[in-house]
Formats: sequence, structure tokens, C-alpha cells
Amino acid sequence: MTVTMSGKMVYRLAEGGADMVSLLGGKGAHASEMARIGVPVPPGFVITTETSLEYFRQGRRFPDGLWDDIVRHVHMLEEQTGRLFGDEDNPLVVSVRSGAPVSMPGMMDTILNMGVTDTTVAGLARMMGDERPALDAFRRLIQGFGDVVLGIPKARFETVLEDTKKRAGAGFDYELQPEALQGLISEFKGIIQEATGEPLSDDPWVLLKAAVEAVFNSWNNPRAITYREFQGISHNMGTACVIMAMVFGNLGNDSGTGVLFSRNPGSGERGLYGEFLPNAQGEDVVAGIRTPQRIQALHSAWPEIYGQIDETARQLEAHYKDVQDIEFTVERGKLYILQTRSAKRTASAAVRIAVELVSEGVLTQEQALGRVEAGEVSAVLMPHFVTEAKAAAMKEGRLLAEGVGASPGAASGVVVMDPDRVAAIADGGQPVILVRQETNPDDVHGIIKANGVLTSRGGMTSHAAVVTRGLGKPCVVGCEELRFEADGRATARGKSIAEGDVISLDGATGEIFIGEVEAVAPRPDELEELNTLLGWADGVRRLQVWANADTPEDAHRARANGAEGIGLCRTEHMFFAEERLRHIRRLLAIGPEASQLIRRVSELEEALENAPASEREAMQGRLEEAKAQCDSSEAVQGFHAELAELERFQTEDFYGIFKAMEGLPVVIRLLDAPLHEFLPDYGELVQEVAELTRRIEGDNRMEAWLNRGRDLVNRSAAELEKLTVGKRVTDWLSERVSLPQQADEEGLREELEEKERTLELVAHLRESNPMLGHRGCRVGLTMPEIYEMQVRAIVTAGCRLAEEGAPVRAEIMIPIVSHVNELKWLRPRLRAVASKTREALGIYVTYLFGTMIEVPRAALTADEVATEAEFFSFGSNDLTQMTFAFSRDDAESKFLNHYVETEILPRNPFNTLDTRGVGRLMRMATEAAREVDPEFPIGICGEHGGDPRSVAFCNELGLNYVSASPFRVPVARLAAAQSALGQIQAAD
Ligand code: ADP
Ligand code: MG
Ligand code: MG
Repeated sequence: MTVTMSGKMVYRLAEGGADMVSLLGGKGAHASEMARIGVPVPPGFVITTETSLEYFRQGRRFPDGLWDDIVRHVHMLEEQTGRLFGDEDNPLVVSVRSGAPVSMPGMMDTILNMGVTDTTVAGLARMMGDERPALDAFRRLIQGFGDVVLGIPKARFETVLEDTKKRAGAGFDYELQPEALQGLISEFKGIIQEATGEPLSDDPWVLLKAAVEAVFNSWNNPRAITYREFQGISHNMGTACVIMAMVFGNLGNDSGTGVLFSRNPGSGERGLYGEFLPNAQGEDVVAGIRTPQRIQALHSAWPEIYGQIDETARQLEAHYKDVQDIEFTVERGKLYILQTRSAKRTASAAVRIAVELVSEGVLTQEQALGRVEAGEVSAVLMPHFVTEAKAAAMKEGRLLAEGVGASPGAASGVVVMDPDRVAAIADGGQPVILVRQETNPDDVHGIIKANGVLTSRGGMTSHAAVVTRGLGKPCVVGCEELRFEADGRATARGKSIAEGDVISLDGATGEIFIGEVEAVAPRPDELEELNTLLGWADGVRRLQVWANADTPEDAHRARANGAEGIGLCRTEHMFFAEERLRHIRRLLAIGPEASQLIRRVSELEEALENAPASEREAMQGRLEEAKAQCDSSEAVQGFHAELAELERFQTEDFYGIFKAMEGLPVVIRLLDAPLHEFLPDYGELVQEVAELTRRIEGDNRMEAWLNRGRDLVNRSAAELEKLTVGKRVTDWLSERVSLPQQADEEGLREELEEKERTLELVAHLRESNPMLGHRGCRVGLTMPEIYEMQVRAIVTAGCRLAEEGAPVRAEIMIPIVSHVNELKWLRPRLRAVASKTREALGIYVTYLFGTMIEVPRAALTADEVATEAEFFSFGSNDLTQMTFAFSRDDAESKFLNHYVETEILPRNPFNTLDTRGVGRLMRMATEAAREVDPEFPIGICGEHGGDPRSVAFCNELGLNYVSASPFRVPVARLAAAQSALGQIQAAD
């Protein structure tokens, strides 16, 4: 990319404005804006970002004319201030500040007190009426210049400063007397002489030029580059350089400096929030040298100044229509604002501030909707520590460590350090906190079962952070003070935790406590501001927001969060419960045989009807035979029995969900999962069978048992050492040392037989590519009895509610359709089942039959598919997998990160819709269906339905609804509104 110079390289503040951020940087543009609206900023000028880029292009040389421009503008500043740069009596002193178009706090450099030299320092002292601050300004200049411009390690100056303070008995910088400062200055000069071989120039112009170059160069210092990479900020923007007259906050007790927010950035509460240091320079607040006072203290100590500050903060807030983060300095009772920007705030503060700014008349409702990042809204609904409980834990010294809050929410649970052990403990009903150095895709099964995750490494974009945010679970990452010891403990701040201990973590604040800290999740109806904001969102959005919910509890939560329907109820999740899994496994074991026998009968019946008279008799005979075979088949009997059992479960499930939704639409997806998901792992089974066989048939059986016993005892002993004594020890033993069973050969044989049967089934159902294998409607076509059972359960549940007078809206969805013929075969068959069920119950409920669009072929032939379906729902996860030919798990664990890091892909397409590829298929399918019927209902039920930019795409595409997990529903509501208002757009 080539950027051409626009010509003008330097702008006076009066010439700029807030709309020139990319040219003047944030600091420069907003200083200009403040000057323009009459907020007191020191006079100054800005060298543009483009100039810094040109400087780099020319091999780090000033472009032609730049220096003359700078000199000319310094002269203008002299006129404005009535002071002269480098003048002995009346010197002008300036700061040379970096400022990029996006905030990069503390990453680049600023040099203060430029213009203080041997020649001018006495004059400055006279102007200040005090020698001390002038000398102090000089030593700060030398120190800053030495560090930033000359690259001399900070520590060299700091040690000298500390020594001097110690010798002088001064606790703080400002207590150093002129004599000591004089000494410091000459020592600092000595450091520079020694490091560079040259004395520090006394010519302020020479120093100024070097300072501007240093500010330009700081755009490319390693810190700044790393930060941009981490934040995904472009390297092509460059930095502006703001040169501004210095104001001094250290001229006595009527001076000072501070940083404030116009509202509390944590809670959003109205009122100034910040810190003030009397008799200090700006950098002292940030440096944390002295403990500042809370800004409220000024209210009584310094009412007039407080009034000025408050008024200016309000003025800035009203002007920017947003909460501001402000740096200010008071020089002899006069207030100067040095910087203002929109404040970073927590999600709940963002919501509260947006709503209150509307009631204060600062924002319109629509503007307020644009002020909250949709993706953050779910954070507001997350649990957090009860304030009093946390305070008590602090007081009891239970704070273990602090890390980076990576995914909001608070949780307590027992520490588990191995993801493989999480499930066993979590399934036993104990909440678990997974504690690791870092996580990777192999740990996901543990993360899913854990209530929270803590890692000692990684940042906001680490694996743990990304996965937990997706799951809506609390997570603290980068807790580097936590050290993992060889004995299996983890220590920090002199405390330690081990497996089995209880800890609590807050993923918003990054705090970790030992023991339990009570947490509460705000009830959505308690969140007045959020509800207000989302209410406004509902008023402007066109797109409906539904939720993915598999249980009545999920359904209730979804509705509490504002869902207007269920876009995806996955039936397979209902089969995973222990008492059901047995039935589904047996069903799968005997299903194929039984289904085939049943089919044979119906095929013969059909053939008989159409057969010529001459063949009838023979056929009748064959039919009788098949019927007899069917009736006497154990497989068929068992199959029907298992189906009946599952139907009973499913009817209850659907009844509960319909009831919870009170007549809102509920889309139920018929069985979709690859069948092996219901079965144990093949490799593990093979091993277990081999082991059992060896134990039963092995030559030295006694020997083997003995060895095994010894081994077990040794392992128990080793394991025992790691455990805290107590119940878990006995649990552990009873779980593993089932000695009586092992001694019982009968039992072993039975176990082996059972395992062999399962193995046979698993081997039979095993597929080399299950994602593309026997799943979804393909099972529906080969074993139609399963789908028929599900449809009967849906209709029965619906009828039962209808009988109770409750409204029901059922939509039955068929997954993995790739060819219209699949629907042509299934739909009439399932319809017939539904009608028969209704007739049998004597109650009439309506339902829709639709399909998921998740196989590219279905999208490509949507015109045909639409004729056999009453609605579409994009299964965007599978559609993404199949369009990219990525298996998600493999891609995410092997190469997708690399793709994103190297910009082969702009982002992970499983998080944000790939609009150009997957989105294009969605567009084709939508247009084709709407060609068939302009009102054809279409939604999306993949996780993308909760991603703001994907929601924007669906809105732009004209879908009827997005469906997201319950906790993402508020996100989708806001995003849908923002899209309707043009505040967000689909990803490119
Ligand atoms: P950063 O981007 O790192 O905050 P700044 O350019 O804002 O760097 O400056 C650092 C500190 O110097 C701030 O605390 C600011 O208040 C102070 N400062 C900058 N310019 C001036 C000035 N003209 N007069 C007084 N203090 C200043
Ligand atoms: Mg600043
Ligand atoms: Mg799917």
C-alpha cells in the first residue's frame, strides 16, 4: 500500500478536531477538539501521523520542510504564550508527546520539559517564583531524554535519584532541595556523557528535533509492535506528535495533577471517579510514586477547583456524549486538561452509563444502543462475588493470587489439575475448577465439565480464554504468580493449593480466593438498566432472537433472557443420561436387524397390493413367512420395547419444553449425532477386552493377580500421597480396588462377554469419518422407526398440552439433508405418523416440517429442497465444516490458529461467519427458497447466531430469526438492533 503525503504536515490545535483522529492521533485530535470548544488545554500543535510514516519511508529522515514547519509553529506558540523557546529570562517549555489513532496506553514515548537547559533554568525559576520546581523540571528532562532519546537504561538514573534522596533524607522527589537537585543534574549529565561520549547539548532546538524523532521511532519500538500484534492493530497507521506548552502541577500547594473518569468505569455510577496528587507533575500519578488522594477529597479541600473539574468533565461528557477518561493538571489554581478520551469500562458500567445518558438527555435511545458492545452484554448476566463475602475473604487473607480476568463470571469448586479427572468429579456432583499452566484443545472435555478455569500462562486470546468465553464460563488466565511445584501443589503469595482444595475465582476481576466465596448471578429481571437497553433494542430490531435449548431449564433461562422461541432443541442430548443410554445402546445393537425385518414385511405388503393375480398366492405365502419371522424375532420385540421406552422419555422431555415455551415456536431436531457417540470408545474397549481375556485365560493366572494386586497397592500409595486425607481417599480406593470382583472368575467372564458384545457393536458402527457418515436423516432413512418414534413423542406431548388448554407450536426439523429425495421419502411417512398419533389421541395440534441447511448440496439445490420443507434453519457450524472441508475439532487443534495468525484466514470461521463462502451459500439458499415462497421462514441455529457480526449478516440477509445459546440471547438482541440501525455490519 502506498500512502501519499497530503502536504500539510503540522496543524495548530485550533485547526484540528475530533474527526481527524487518523491524521492527528487520538491525543492530538481531541486536544484540538477541546481547544475548539473552549476547554482549557495548553496551546500547542500536532505533527501528523502521515508525516511519521513518511519519516520511516525516507529511512528515518525528516521529510523536506518538516523542520522549518516545526520551527514556525514553535514561534507561533511563543507568540501565544508570550514566552521564547531557549530564552534566558522568559523561556517557553513544551512537552513532546506521542499519540496514535488508536489508544496504545503507555506503549510509546513522551518527553516532558523540553526547553529547560542550563541557559534557561534560572529564568524558569524566576517565572515559577521558586528554584526547586525549575531544577526538578531540568532533572526530569535529562532523565527522560536520556532514557527515551538516547536509550540509556532507566535504572541508571533511578539508582542515582534514590541515593540522593537517601542522603538528603527525602522521602519524596519533591522534598529534594535545590542543592541536592543541582547535584543530581550534574550526575545525570555525567551519565549521559559517559554513555554517549558527548555532553548533553545546551541547544533546545537540537534537543527538540531529537525528541520528535524519538517520538516517531517509538511507533516501532518492540513494546508497541508486540502490543499491536496482540491487539490486532495495523502497523501502518503511524503516530502523531503533539507539542504542547508545559503546565506545572508542582508549583506549591495550590497546584497538582490527576487522572479521572467522568463516571465510575467499574459500576457506571454517576460522579467523578479518580485520583489527585497535590504539588506533583502529571507523570507522578501514573508512576505510583506517592499515593494519590481520591478526587472526592478535593470537594472539601478545594471546592473551587473541584467545581471547575466537575464542570469541565460534564462539558466533555456532554460534548462527546460518552464517559471520558481525563488527564489534568492544576497550575496555581488554574485547571488545564491535557488529554481526554472515551473511557474503557466494564460491560455493566457500559450498560448503565448508556441508559443514564439517555435519561440525562445526552444521548438518544438509538445512540445509546450503539454505545454498548453487543459481544460484552452476556458478561452482565454472569455471576459475581457477593460484595460482603468477598470483603470478608479479603479480610481473612484468603486472596491467593490475581491474574487476567479472561471470561466473566464467578465460581467456586475443587481444584483439579488434570482434565481427564474433571468429569469423574463433576459428574459426582462436585463443582470443579480446572487449574493448569495453560490449556490446549486436548483439554476441552475437562473445560466443558469444569465450572471455571484458571491458568498461569496466556492472555486474553489464549486457548483457555477463547474456549471459556465461548462456553460462558468464568476463566482467569496469565496468573503468573501461581507456581506449580514438583509435589503437585501450586503456590502463590506464600499460600498453596492442591487437588481437592476448594478455590473461588472471578473471571471479570481475575481474583482467586482460597475456599468458597459466595457468588450470585443477577436475575435478568433485576437488571433494570440492561432490560431498559434491551427493550429499546427490541423496539428497533427486525430480526427475531430465539435460543438453542435442550431442556426445560434451558428453555426457562432462554425466555428470561428474552428468547422468542427455541430454534434448536437437540434430541440426542436427552439420550445421554445414564438410564437412557442403556436403551439407546440396545436399540442401536438390534435396530438394524429389526428394522430390516420390519421393512421386509411392509415391502411385501406393498408388493402384494400391486401384484398380478397370478402371483398373489405365492406372495401371500412369503408375506406370512416374513410376518411370522418378524413376530418371533427377539430383535424386533426388543427393538419395539426399547423404542417404547425411549418414546416415554422423549414425550416427557418435549412436554416440559413446550410447556416452558407457552406457545412460542419450538424447533425440535430429530436425531442427528453420529451413532458411535452413544457408544464407548473403540480403542478403549479393545484394550479392556484384551486385558480381561488375559486375566481369565492367562497361564499364570495366580501370578498375574498377585502382581496386579501389588501394583495396585503401590499405585494407591503413590496416589494417596497426593491426596488430602479424608473421604476422597476412601472413594478413590473403593473405586479402583474392587478386589472381590477381580477374584470372582464368574464375574469376570460375564464382564468379558458384555464387553465383547459392546465391542462387536462398536466395531460394527465404527466409521472412518463419522462427521460425514451415518448420521442425521441417513439414520432416519435406514431405521425410520427411530424418527417415527420421535415424531410420535413430539405430537403426543403437543396433544397433551393442547388438552390442558396450553398453546403449542411445534416445528420438526430434519438434519443433514443433502438431496430433496431424502425429504420426499421421509416427510410423507412422518406426516402419516403424526396424523395417526393425533387421530388416536383425538386432539388436533398443528406442526411444521422443515429441514436444516447444513450440507452444501442442500444449499445449492435449495429451490428443490424448499418444495419439500416448510422452513429452513441454517446449521452454520456443519455448513462451515463442510464448506471449508474442515473438521472443526481437528482444525482448531491442529492448524486453524496458525491460519489466523498468519492471516491465511482473517478470523476463525466457526466464531464469525465466513460471509464470502459460507455466507454465499446461505444467500443462494435464502434467495432460492424465497423464490418458491416469498414468506418462506428461515433462521440460523449455529453458534454464529450469538456472534454480533454474524447476526448483522443474518439481518442483512433478511432471515427471520437467529438462535443462540440462552446466555448469548441478549447479545443477539442488541446486535440485531445495532445492525438494523447500521451501527454494525457483517464481517467482510
Ligand atoms: P501517555 O500517552 O503515556 O499518557 P502523555 O503524552 O499523555 O503520555 O504524557 C504523559 C504524562 O505527562 C501525562 O501524565 C501528562 O499529564 C503529562 N503531560 C504531558 N504533556 C504535558 C504538558 N504540556 N504539561 C504538563 N504535563 C504534561
Ligand atoms: Mg496520557
Ligand atoms: Mg449439524
